[in-house]
Amino acid sequence: MLMKTYIFFLYSCFTILLFPVHAQDKIGEISVHPIEHATFMLTWKNKLLLFDPSTDKERLNKLKSPDIIFITDIHGDHFNISSLKNVDISKSTFIVPPVVAEQLPDDLRQKAHILKNGESANIAGVKIEAIPMYNLPESADAYHTKGRGNGYVVSLGGQRVYVSGDTEDIPEMRTLKDIDLAFICMNLPYTMTIKQAAEATLAFKPRIVYPYHYRGQHGKSDIASYKQLVNEKDSSIQVIIRDWYPSKP
Ligand code: ZN
Repeated sequence: MLMKTYIFFLYSCFTILLFPVHAQDKIGEISVHPIEHATFMLTWKNKLLLFDPSTDKERLNKLKSPDIIFITDIHGDHFNISSLKNVDISKSTFIVPPVVAEQLPDDLRQKAHILKNGESANIAGVKIEAIPMYNLPESADAYHTKGRGNGYVVSLGGQRVYVSGDTEDIPEMRTLKDIDLAFICMNLPYTMTIKQAAEATLAFKPRIVYPYHYRGQHGKSDIASYKQLVNEKDSSIQVIIRDWYPSKP
Protein backbone atom coordinates (compact mmCIF):
# COMPACT_ATOMS: atom_id res chain seq x y z
CA MET A 1 0.00 0.00 0.00
CA LEU A 2 1.34 3.37 -0.92
CA MET A 3 0.87 6.00 1.67
CA LYS A 4 2.80 9.08 2.50
CA THR A 5 5.26 8.21 5.19
CA TYR A 6 5.32 11.42 7.09
CA ILE A 7 3.60 12.11 10.33
CA PHE A 8 2.80 15.42 11.87
CA PHE A 9 2.00 15.69 15.49
CA LEU A 10 -0.16 18.75 15.84
CA TYR A 11 -0.92 20.72 18.92
CA SER A 12 -2.52 23.64 17.16
CA CYS A 13 -5.01 25.88 18.88
CA PHE A 14 -7.53 24.71 16.31
CA THR A 15 -7.02 21.13 17.36
CA ILE A 16 -7.29 21.92 21.02
CA LEU A 17 -10.54 23.79 20.41
CA LEU A 18 -12.10 20.97 18.43
CA PHE A 19 -10.68 18.06 20.36
CA PRO A 20 -9.93 19.21 23.86
CA VAL A 21 -7.19 17.53 25.90
CA HIS A 22 -5.87 15.36 23.13
CA ALA A 23 -3.92 15.94 19.99
CA GLN A 24 -4.05 14.48 16.55
CA ASP A 25 -1.54 12.72 14.36
CA LYS A 26 -1.72 13.21 10.61
CA ILE A 27 -0.84 10.02 8.77
CA GLY A 28 -1.17 10.55 5.04
CA GLU A 29 -4.82 11.51 4.54
CA ILE A 30 -5.90 10.06 7.89
CA SER A 31 -5.99 12.02 11.12
CA VAL A 32 -5.82 9.99 14.32
CA HIS A 33 -7.32 11.42 17.50
CA PRO A 34 -6.69 9.28 20.57
CA ILE A 35 -9.37 10.08 23.16
CA GLU A 36 -9.24 7.60 26.03
CA HIS A 37 -8.44 3.88 26.48
CA ALA A 38 -10.39 2.26 23.59
CA THR A 39 -12.04 5.46 22.40
CA PHE A 40 -10.59 7.26 19.40
CA MET A 41 -11.52 8.98 16.22
CA LEU A 42 -10.24 8.90 12.67
CA THR A 43 -10.94 11.57 10.12
CA TRP A 44 -10.47 10.98 6.41
CA LYS A 45 -11.68 13.21 3.60
CA ASN A 46 -14.23 14.97 5.80
CA LYS A 47 -15.50 11.63 7.07
CA LEU A 48 -15.44 11.13 10.78
CA LEU A 49 -15.17 7.65 12.26
CA LEU A 50 -15.58 7.19 16.01
CA PHE A 51 -14.58 3.97 17.75
CA ASP A 52 -16.00 2.66 21.02
CA PRO A 53 -17.17 5.96 22.53
CA SER A 54 -16.89 5.46 26.26
CA THR A 55 -15.51 8.49 28.02
CA ASP A 56 -16.45 11.75 29.72
CA LYS A 57 -19.20 13.96 28.33
CA GLU A 58 -16.74 16.82 27.82
CA ARG A 59 -14.63 14.73 25.46
CA LEU A 60 -17.60 13.71 23.30
CA ASN A 61 -20.14 16.47 23.13
CA LYS A 62 -17.92 18.90 21.22
CA LEU A 63 -17.34 16.44 18.37
CA LYS A 64 -19.06 16.85 15.05
CA SER A 65 -21.54 14.10 14.24
CA PRO A 66 -19.56 10.99 13.22
CA ASP A 67 -20.38 9.39 9.87
CA ILE A 68 -19.73 5.96 11.37
CA ILE A 69 -19.63 4.83 14.99
CA PHE A 70 -17.97 1.46 15.52
CA ILE A 71 -18.64 -0.63 18.59
CA THR A 72 -16.54 -3.72 19.16
CA ASP A 73 -18.09 -5.48 22.15
CA ILE A 74 -20.54 -5.35 25.05
CA HIS A 75 -18.20 -4.28 27.85
CA GLY A 76 -18.62 -0.80 29.26
CA ASP A 77 -15.25 0.46 28.06
CA HIS A 78 -16.51 -0.13 24.49
CA PHE A 79 -20.31 0.05 24.57
CA ASN A 80 -21.57 2.72 26.90
CA ILE A 81 -25.11 4.03 26.47
CA SER A 82 -24.58 7.06 28.71
CA SER A 83 -21.52 8.06 26.66
CA LEU A 84 -23.47 7.59 23.43
CA LYS A 85 -26.04 10.08 24.70
CA ASN A 86 -23.27 12.69 24.61
CA VAL A 87 -22.48 12.09 20.94
CA ASP A 88 -24.30 13.89 18.14
CA ILE A 89 -25.53 10.84 16.21
CA SER A 90 -27.66 12.75 13.71
CA LYS A 91 -25.44 11.68 10.75
CA SER A 92 -24.22 8.40 12.20
CA THR A 93 -24.46 4.79 11.12
CA PHE A 94 -23.50 2.32 13.84
CA ILE A 95 -21.41 -0.73 13.00
CA VAL A 96 -21.96 -3.35 15.68
CA PRO A 97 -21.81 -7.09 16.33
CA PRO A 98 -25.21 -8.79 16.84
CA VAL A 99 -24.81 -8.95 20.62
CA VAL A 100 -24.47 -5.16 20.80
CA ALA A 101 -27.39 -4.63 18.42
CA GLU A 102 -29.60 -6.60 20.82
CA GLN A 103 -28.76 -4.18 23.60
CA LEU A 104 -29.17 -0.94 21.64
CA PRO A 105 -32.21 1.18 22.39
CA ASP A 106 -34.74 1.14 19.51
CA ASP A 107 -33.79 4.56 18.15
CA LEU A 108 -30.12 3.59 17.91
CA ARG A 109 -30.81 0.10 16.58
CA GLN A 110 -32.52 1.69 13.57
CA LYS A 111 -29.16 3.25 12.72
CA ALA A 112 -27.20 0.05 13.16
CA HIS A 113 -25.57 -2.07 10.50
CA ILE A 114 -24.92 -5.45 12.07
CA LEU A 115 -21.79 -7.42 11.19
CA LYS A 116 -20.79 -10.86 12.40
CA ASN A 117 -17.14 -11.98 12.37
CA GLY A 118 -16.09 -12.42 8.73
CA GLU A 119 -18.81 -10.20 7.27
CA SER A 120 -18.19 -6.92 5.51
CA ALA A 121 -20.04 -3.80 4.46
CA ASN A 122 -19.60 -0.56 2.55
CA ILE A 123 -20.83 2.47 4.45
CA ALA A 124 -20.31 6.06 3.32
CA GLY A 125 -17.57 4.97 0.90
CA VAL A 126 -15.73 3.04 3.60
CA LYS A 127 -15.20 -0.72 3.29
CA ILE A 128 -15.50 -2.42 6.67
CA GLU A 129 -14.56 -6.02 7.53
CA ALA A 130 -15.43 -7.58 10.89
CA ILE A 131 -12.48 -9.54 12.33
CA PRO A 132 -12.73 -12.01 15.24
CA MET A 133 -11.49 -10.92 18.67
CA TYR A 134 -11.19 -13.38 21.55
CA ASN A 135 -9.07 -14.76 24.36
CA LEU A 136 -6.80 -17.79 24.12
CA PRO A 137 -7.23 -20.60 24.89
CA GLU A 138 -10.85 -20.38 23.81
CA SER A 139 -13.24 -21.14 26.62
CA ALA A 140 -16.86 -20.44 27.46
CA ASP A 141 -15.91 -18.38 30.53
CA ALA A 142 -13.24 -16.25 28.81
CA TYR A 143 -13.47 -12.48 29.08
CA HIS A 144 -13.99 -12.46 25.33
CA THR A 145 -15.47 -15.51 23.65
CA LYS A 146 -14.91 -16.12 19.94
CA GLY A 147 -17.71 -14.84 17.75
CA ARG A 148 -19.14 -12.29 20.20
CA GLY A 149 -17.23 -9.06 19.49
CA ASN A 150 -15.69 -7.61 16.36
CA GLY A 151 -12.32 -6.17 15.57
CA TYR A 152 -12.45 -4.18 12.34
CA VAL A 153 -10.42 -3.60 9.21
CA VAL A 154 -11.48 -0.33 7.63
CA SER A 155 -10.33 0.69 4.16
CA LEU A 156 -9.94 4.42 3.69
CA GLY A 157 -8.99 4.98 0.06
CA GLY A 158 -6.05 2.63 -0.42
CA GLN A 159 -5.18 2.55 3.26
CA ARG A 160 -6.16 -0.33 5.51
CA VAL A 161 -6.69 0.34 9.20
CA TYR A 162 -6.97 -2.50 11.74
CA VAL A 163 -8.63 -1.99 15.12
CA SER A 164 -8.05 -5.03 17.31
CA GLY A 165 -10.82 -4.69 19.87
CA ASP A 166 -10.18 -6.84 22.94
CA THR A 167 -8.22 -9.89 21.90
CA GLU A 168 -5.14 -11.99 22.30
CA ASP A 169 -2.68 -12.71 19.51
CA ILE A 170 -5.12 -14.82 17.54
CA PRO A 171 -4.30 -16.36 14.13
CA GLU A 172 -6.80 -13.99 12.49
CA MET A 173 -4.63 -11.06 13.63
CA ARG A 174 -1.30 -12.68 12.87
CA THR A 175 -2.32 -13.40 9.27
CA LEU A 176 -3.69 -9.97 8.39
CA LYS A 177 -2.26 -8.56 5.16
CA ASP A 178 -1.38 -5.07 3.97
CA ILE A 179 -2.26 -3.16 7.13
CA ASP A 180 -1.07 0.44 7.01
CA LEU A 181 -2.23 1.50 10.43
CA ALA A 182 -3.09 -0.69 13.43
CA PHE A 183 -4.46 -0.18 16.94
CA ILE A 184 -3.45 -3.06 19.21
CA CYS A 185 -4.77 -3.70 22.72
CA MET A 186 -2.52 -4.93 25.55
CA ASN A 187 -3.82 -5.09 29.09
CA LEU A 188 -4.01 -7.77 31.73
CA PRO A 189 -5.86 -9.85 32.59
CA TYR A 190 -8.37 -8.91 29.90
CA THR A 191 -6.45 -9.08 26.63
CA MET A 192 -2.74 -9.88 26.21
CA THR A 193 0.79 -9.18 27.35
CA ILE A 194 3.09 -6.74 25.60
CA LYS A 195 5.16 -9.77 24.47
CA GLN A 196 2.14 -11.36 22.78
CA ALA A 197 1.21 -8.01 21.25
CA ALA A 198 4.77 -7.50 19.96
CA GLU A 199 4.93 -11.01 18.48
CA ALA A 200 1.59 -10.53 16.73
CA THR A 201 2.70 -7.14 15.44
CA LEU A 202 5.88 -8.68 14.04
CA ALA A 203 3.80 -11.39 12.38
CA PHE A 204 1.49 -9.13 10.39
CA LYS A 205 3.83 -6.15 10.12
CA PRO A 206 1.60 -3.09 10.03
CA ARG A 207 3.43 -0.06 8.72
CA ILE A 208 2.36 2.02 11.72
CA VAL A 209 0.97 0.78 15.03
CA TYR A 210 -0.52 2.42 18.07
CA PRO A 211 -0.59 0.52 21.35
CA TYR A 212 -3.99 1.42 22.83
CA HIS A 213 -6.34 -0.02 25.46
CA TYR A 214 -3.32 -0.59 27.72
CA ARG A 215 -4.69 0.01 31.22
CA GLY A 216 -5.44 -3.19 33.12
CA GLN A 217 -6.33 -4.42 36.57
CA HIS A 218 -2.94 -3.40 38.00
CA GLY A 219 -2.13 -0.25 36.08
CA LYS A 220 -0.83 0.37 32.61
CA SER A 221 1.14 -2.00 30.43
CA ASP A 222 4.71 -0.99 29.61
CA ILE A 223 4.12 0.29 26.09
CA ALA A 224 7.69 1.63 25.79
CA SER A 225 8.92 -1.95 26.22
CA TYR A 226 6.36 -3.11 23.64
CA LYS A 227 7.86 -0.63 21.19
CA GLN A 228 11.35 -1.89 22.00
CA LEU A 229 10.31 -5.53 21.50
CA VAL A 230 8.89 -4.67 18.09
CA ASN A 231 11.70 -2.42 16.91
CA GLU A 232 14.61 -4.58 18.02
CA LYS A 233 13.34 -7.21 15.55
CA ASP A 234 11.91 -4.86 12.90
CA SER A 235 12.89 -1.21 12.90
CA SER A 236 10.67 -0.47 9.89
CA ILE A 237 7.45 -0.73 11.92
CA GLN A 238 6.62 2.68 13.31
CA VAL A 239 5.26 2.40 16.85
CA ILE A 240 3.46 5.56 17.97
CA ILE A 241 3.27 6.06 21.71
CA ARG A 242 0.57 8.43 22.93
CA ASP A 243 -1.05 9.07 26.28
CA TRP A 244 -4.47 7.40 26.03
CA TYR A 245 -5.29 8.27 29.63
CA PRO A 246 -5.45 12.05 29.88
CA SER A 247 -6.45 13.59 33.15
CA LYS A 248 -10.07 14.66 33.61
CA PRO A 249 -11.11 17.53 31.36
ZN1 ZN B 1 -11.87 -3.43 26.79
